[in-house]
Amino acid sequence: MRILHWFRIDLRVRDNRSLDWSAERGDFLLPLFVFDDALVAAPRHGANRLHFLYACVERLADALAKRGQTLVVRRGDPRVWVPRLAREARIDWVSFNRDTVPRAKTRDAEVERALREDGVQVVSHKDHVVFESSEILTKTGQPFSVYTPYRNAWWRQYELDPPTPPRRRRLPPPVPGVEAGGLPSRDRLLPASIPAEGVLPTGGEAAARRRLRSFLERDSAAYAERRDLPAADATSRLSPYLRLGVVSPRECFREAFEWLAEHPAAERGVRKWLDELVWREFYQAILDLHPRVLRRAYRPEYDALRWSADAERFAAWCEGRTGFPFVDAAMRQLRSTGWMHNRARMVVASFLVKDLWIDWRWGERFFLEHLVDGDPASNNGGWQWSASTGTDAQPYFRIFNPVSQSERYDPDGVYIRRFVPELGGLDAGRIHRPWTAPLEAPGYPPPIVDHAAARHHALRAFESVRPDGR
Ligand SMILES: Cc1cc2nc3c(=O)[nH]c(=O)nc-3n(C[C@H](O)[C@H](O)[C@H](O)COP(=O)(O)OP(=O)(O)OC[C@H]3O[C@@H](n4cnc5c(N)ncnc54)[C@H](O)[C@@H]3O)c2cc1C
Repeated sequence: MRILHWFRIDLRVRDNRSLDWSAERGDFLLPLFVFDDALVAAPRHGANRLHFLYACVERLADALAKRGQTLVVRRGDPRVWVPRLAREARIDWVSFNRDTVPRAKTRDAEVERALREDGVQVVSHKDHVVFESSEILTKTGQPFSVYTPYRNAWWRQYELDPPTPPRRRRLPPPVPGVEAGGLPSRDRLLPASIPAEGVLPTGGEAAARRRLRSFLERDSAAYAERRDLPAADATSRLSPYLRLGVVSPRECFREAFEWLAEHPAAERGVRKWLDELVWREFYQAILDLHPRVLRRAYRPEYDALRWSADAERFAAWCEGRTGFPFVDAAMRQLRSTGWMHNRARMVVASFLVKDLWIDWRWGERFFLEHLVDGDPASNNGGWQWSASTGTDAQPYFRIFNPVSQSERYDPDGVYIRRFVPELGGLDAGRIHRPWTAPLEAPGYPPPIVDHAAARHHALRAFESVRPDGR
């Protein structure tokens, strides 16, 4: 049997459900990756993510070569390339792993239709999550809309039906007569703005596995205490790898439990970390079930909110010159590294929406353009949570104070100093409020908004559209 495995957001050889399925059944295998023109040209897939993607595809090609296989690479429209290659190579089955992003689901349905018309069989697999949206339901068979009961049900399911470990298989030989194509040149394919050397994470599954291992060894035990401190850099930084499937979520759970078996004292930290991976699954399920959240509020009443379109304030937020040091440090971290700490993401998102009263979708789009881990499901979930329009929303009346968040999570100002050098001369007492010492922070802007007044405005606006008026 001749099988084509279509790589998309599963850029790894190990523990890849579709690849394993193909390896078990195929006499010949055609592993394919298509650089989708629609993806490469879209500004929402910013330079950071595309360069990281490219590096991961390069490493994937190496990993396949070591196993006697050749990654076939094409550039263009997968709706054209997958059926065309299947025809040319006389493929019996096309196999791929499922995606939850609406655009990808539409594309996959079109590819599948074209293949079936040509008499090619198609199979898709669960791979990007441990449990799909249909597997975690309430007792009455409904999907969850709140994280905590979802998480409890998720863990019950994990106890009942833990994912089976992958079996190591040899890959079948390449389908004869197919031109590999090779990777298109980086310069011709990718945006000209190349991220600075060493800024992006190293691509490939070996790097992902090293990162997982070093996180478990170094930071997992204290994760619960240190995960909220941006200066500590004590989280796993696995998000870009999970985004592109360079590491399997099942492997993260398995490795973490193996680590726990040997290091029971790490229980609290490891459990907390695994619950974060369950957040990821929750948002994947939400997007899968409610694709409209990419355009609208999850809670429809909040679609009535009338946002400001103040382009100048938005630019100040984007560029990290709001006059609030923690917010500015975070936005500059994003722009200079393509990544931002989770606590900082929550604070800058709250600031954009509740202090500047700018539509959360503007921030969501900006994040997707810059984040190396930019993921439609987690990003939308995070933005709607922060804007109080989402599933398990931050209640609208709980509004982050950007100064007290800064004092609490960056008490010595280490994170601020790292990204806002103009404030390097201020001591820990004043770095959170540089307007109290303007002479010591030359060139740093005054606050662009009065937090107390903005908070008042946000509360009134939310109350005006709530059905209960409160
Ligand atoms: C406004 C906003 C936007 C966000 N956008 C994204 C995004 O585009 N892509 C993305 O992967 N995450 C996003 N997050 C979630 C979170 O900030 C990142 O997953 C996390 O900071 C990644 O760092 P890490 O890998 O070191 O996380 P760790 O703390 O080590 O967590 C391990 C993994 O769990 C998952 N995870 C952790 N926190 C969350 C969360 N709150 N929601 C969903 N999954 C989570 C990630 O896959 C992460 O890699 C966003 C959060 C907010 C508030």
